[in-house]
Amino acid sequence: LVAAEASGVERDGGRDEGLRPKRLCDYVGQPELKQVLAIALEATRQRQEALDHVLLYGPPGLGKTTMALVLAEELGVRCRITSAPALERPRDIVGLLMNLQPRELLFIDEIHRLNRVAEELLYPAMEDFRLDLTVGAGAGARTRSLELPVFTLVGATTKAGSLSSPLRDRFGLIQRLEFYNCSDLEAIVVRAAGLLKVELMQEAAAEIARRCRGTPRIANRLLRRVRDFASVKGHGPVTAAVVEEALAMHRVDALGLDASDRRLLELLLGSYAGGPAGLDTLAAALGEDPDTLEGVVEPFLLQLGFLQRTPRGRVVTEAGRRHLEAA
Ligand code: ATP
Repeated sequence: LVAAEASGVERDGGRDEGLRPKRLCDYVGQPELKQVLAIALEATRQRQEALDHVLLYGPPGLGKTTMALVLAEELGVRCRITSAPALERPRDIVGLLMNLQPRELLFIDEIHRLNRVAEELLYPAMEDFRLDLTVGAGAGARTRSLELPVFTLVGATTKAGSLSSPLRDRFGLIQRLEFYNCSDLEAIVVRAAGLLKVELMQEAAAEIARRCRGTPRIANRLLRRVRDFASVKGHGPVTAAVVEEALAMHRVDALGLDASDRRLLELLLGSYAGGPAGLDTLAAALGEDPDTLEGVVEPFLLQLGFLQRTPRGRVVTEAGRRHLEAA
């Protein structure tokens, strides 16, 4: 469990920590999400209440954790960060809930992976700020209710469809995060380059933006690889040509496809005549976990129109085939 102070730097020492925007006005892109949350924040401040529970969903690396920390910062409260797999035993979630202060945020990542017991403890906690605990066992078992402070649960998931409907229905705000467009990503890269003290030409920032699969976390990662390359091989400000050379070394192509994307498309084309082929079959052949394939690799290929999900399985599109042949 990582507890993060909204005002401070998260204590897990993650590489991107220093790059996280702190306030809503620094959070680039996602205009609809920001508009909805800005209104909810303002109303919450006016009424001096806790923010309604928020569910954020979308592919990984788009800024869900960042947004939870921004919300806490905007409200001037602390954000406690955990993820569903860390809440295996009932006492994990009970301990967390009982230690919350009024109006604090509790961020649960991968919330679709909560087990039943934890989920059932959350229902009354979210709805009535009450914890229903069973004391004793067998015929002597009794339920004891404990009052909880009013808090905000921020849940994040890459698979909104896997959430049970009783859990989903308890969120007052349900928001999808979209892949970022190139100009927003360029702004994210320029901002991160400034923080990392990398001298980057605008054309180089645009090149990274084009190759980062619409994802800020990947933009930051590519920027670091470019920084390494430039500090060893180059001198002066980083140009688009340096970005191309650095990323070619990491097998990231002009559209941002990497080795995993290409392996999936090549497998479909080479062994299944372009498809259809089922997710589990493809995952087994690639030695990947089906969830990773579905949640991490496929969304960007679907967005590019290189892959289709059909009832009979995955199919490579004509555009996907052409891109692979041209590469
Ligand atoms: P996951 O779902 O896997 O936890 P995430 O969606 O929570 O991923 P974050 O960890 O919040 O992703 O974001 C990754 C990094 O990308 C952040 O550390 C931050 O530097 C950057 N980032 C994300 N969103 C934005 C944004 N809107 N503006 C600027 N930088 C951003």
